[in-house]
Amino acid sequence: MNQFDYVKPSTVADAIAAASAPGAAYLASGTNLLDLMKGNVVRPSRLVDISQLAELTRIETSGNGDVRIGALVRNADLAHDTSFARDFPAVAEALLSGASAQLRNAATVGGNLLQRTRCAYFYDPASACNKRKPGAGCNARGGDNHQHAVLGWSEACIATNPSDFCVPLAAFDAVVEIEGAAGRREVALEALHLLPASTPERETVLAPGEMIVAIRLPAAARAFARHARYLKVRERNSYAFAVVSAAAGLVIDNGTISSARLALGGVAAKPWRAVDAEALLAGQKAQTSAFQQAADVALNTAKPSGDNAYKIPLARGLIVRALAAAAEGTPSRMPALPASPFSSVPGALHDA
Ligand SMILES: Cc1cc2nc3c(=O)[nH]c(=O)nc-3n(C[C@H](O)[C@H](O)[C@H](O)COP(=O)(O)OP(=O)(O)OC[C@H]3O[C@@H](n4cnc5c(N)ncnc54)[C@H](O)[C@@H]3O)c2cc1C
Ligand code: SF4
Repeated sequence: MNQFDYVKPSTVADAIAAASAPGAAYLASGTNLLDLMKGNVVRPSRLVDISQLAELTRIETSGNGDVRIGALVRNADLAHDTSFARDFPAVAEALLSGASAQLRNAATVGGNLLQRTRCAYFYDPASACNKRKPGAGCNARGGDNHQHAVLGWSEACIATNPSDFCVPLAAFDAVVEIEGAAGRREVALEALHLLPASTPERETVLAPGEMIVAIRLPAAARAFARHARYLKVRERNSYAFAVVSAAAGLVIDNGTISSARLALGGVAAKPWRAVDAEALLAGQKAQTSAFQQAADVALNTAKPSGDNAYKIPLARGLIVRALAAAAEGTPSRMPALPASPFSSVPGALHDA
């Protein structure tokens, strides 16, 4: 590890001032950042430890019904918040699908949004990686790339975003509250992460020193609570990142879909919102043929970036399953996956 300053401010304003120094990085729980530092993948000149900022640890409901989640709320605490899980079940299901119980107890929601890609070449300083060193090349292009992107990738970078949490957040129009030296601003979760194009080193719209202070779920997202699911395909039954995942939400009146939400994970450098598929579903009967058409539309620009052509039919099948599971109804316990190590987690959700 390289030498770095360590500061632990007691206010958001002081933290932002400290993080405005060149090369500074925020430290939340460190489950991603400290790994990267130990591997010499990132070398911040200063760590700004925000873990003690109590004002960022609250889950609040505002007057208009929006739910505001402070950036330092732990993944597990949010997933186990009974009213949150009842109102936003696919978000809770995504949180419970991520990492291990120990990690979920430590990891923060703000850190989850900004965790780095799991591309193995990014983690290996001996490999060429345009994301770590612009212009260096990309060893993943000709290497082991079976897990890499099938949507929105560029010749410069084919890495995926690993977050489960981001996927339903994108589907349900979450908003990220950001604070920096220039003041406070809001960005749609969908617009937070950038596609690689020719600058894969630039992963989000955050300016240097900007901090995520909260994530907001709009009151309107509760309309999907009775028909919402997050399904994740991974190489092991638990404790593994998504190969492909899908968040689906439906509003169904007398068997007809009046509104749909769909986003994919594991397929691109950002959570991939499938707006054309959502539009196609609205007004259709909630049945397999409509789900299949939606899956085709969602993936019509997908193309392999290496040994990962399998991801396209896999994602197609998962979309159909997620929409069918959502149509069936949000389960009362979750994730209701056979043999899931989390199947005993009470969800306090809806009866199917
Ligand atoms: C073995 C393992 C398995 C995992 N499996 C999964 C999985 O299946 N699904 C999944 O989604 N995740 C998984 N994770 C990732 C884990 O969820 C993240 O590491 C965690 O959410 C990051 O939160 P943190 O608080 O530890 O962030 P940190 O490691 O402290 O920070 C992560 C990044 O975010 C920045 N940052 C943190 N907070 C803020 C803020 N408020 N404002 C601005 N910048 C900030 C930091 O500077 C850093 O760049 C796994 C991690 C491990 C180690
Ligand atoms: S895919 Fe992206 S992160 Fe992976 S080696 Fe290539 S440039 Fe780096």
